[in-house]
Amino acid sequence: MTRDDDQVNRNRFATIAVGAAENTPRFNHGSTNDVVAPIHLSSTFEWSGRDTTNEHEYSRESNPTRAALEKQVARLEGGEHGLALASGMAAISTTMLSLVPPGGHLVSSDSIYGGTEKLLTKLVAGHLGIDVEFVDAREPENIATAVDSDTDLIWAETPTNPLMRLCDIRSIADIANDHGVPFGVDNTFASPYFQAPLELGADIVVHSTTKYLNGHSDSIGGAVITDDDEIFEKLAFSQRIGLGNVLSPFDCYLVARGIKTLPARMKHHQENTMAVARLLKGHDRITRVHYPGLESHPQHDLAAEQMSGYSGMLSFEFDGSLTEIEAFVEGLTVFTPGTSLGGVESLVEVPSLMNPDQVNNESATTDIPETLVRLSVGIEDSDDLCEDLRSALP
Ligand code: PLP
Repeated sequence: MTRDDDQVNRNRFATIAVGAAENTPRFNHGSTNDVVAPIHLSSTFEWSGRDTTNEHEYSRESNPTRAALEKQVARLEGGEHGLALASGMAAISTTMLSLVPPGGHLVSSDSIYGGTEKLLTKLVAGHLGIDVEFVDAREPENIATAVDSDTDLIWAETPTNPLMRLCDIRSIADIANDHGVPFGVDNTFASPYFQAPLELGADIVVHSTTKYLNGHSDSIGGAVITDDDEIFEKLAFSQRIGLGNVLSPFDCYLVARGIKTLPARMKHHQENTMAVARLLKGHDRITRVHYPGLESHPQHDLAAEQMSGYSGMLSFEFDGSLTEIEAFVEGLTVFTPGTSLGGVESLVEVPSLMNPDQVNNESATTDIPETLVRLSVGIEDSDDLCEDLRSALP
């Protein structure tokens, strides 16, 4: 069942995004009856005595604004528990460090965000001596071959940054379940609007809230959502007591505010991206367009099955030199060259120009073509976006 097929569920998603969580009696913010969760900047809360337990005592451990956002992200992903962390990388590293002991075993998709790849190769494997096994997760059998009863965590991202590869969440979740191994999914590219990994059997969902959830390129943050009480306890302990990597109240407010328009933005992102993908597909200097919404994407059928839409990220391969790509980027006036993604404005990134160590890196787990261009398609008028690309391409 996808959200597109299920009008009721889809309506509920938007209702939750707008803030049903905030308006329940539980989120009735004190005597002022705020409709929006206020920003609680207090680092500490008055002790109410030996016989009463404070809901909040110290803001690293819990804070009312953060608690409201955590409830909201958990409900968006259909999970029990949410945590709001200082960045997407904080969310990923906290998950890995909490669940995999030094000397443990972690199986990861080989196609992942460059920062996650560095975390895994340099810190998780290099520093902690964890055995990290990278596999091509497009084939669930590769995961099945790598996992054994001693595996501590399976990790995947789908669709992946920047190659837009998918993995079959349900099949991998079945493998994880058979071995009693937790399975974590980075759902940043799809956003909870288009993909619900927990419903498909994953145990943990992670987001860089910096991207679609906040949506306005003005906050760095991360979130973890899980249904599993034991996993939640481990992660919450690491985050709140051991590592202290919490999202600030002001950033919590920004993300909570961004989430309210997530459904409206995601629909618009997708419509524009489909128009851009079709335009690029027909261009004679572009050899491949990586967008799961195109039927030519090798995993289009899987995308149609496990996602309810294809989101706003695509990449393409250009038949030409880096100098020509540079001229193309300079010729764009609506797309801004820059890293990051998921904001309302359109961005263009060329990994080999802007992130060269991601491309010319011998320890890279996947090859990123030198002439790959990644677009984060915003919510501007699609005619303007298409015209911008058309006139900047040679
Ligand atoms: N996951 C994915 C898929 C990303 O693209 C990124 C950043 O680009 C991250 C995680 C890390 O997020 P942050 O920059 O918020 O730490």
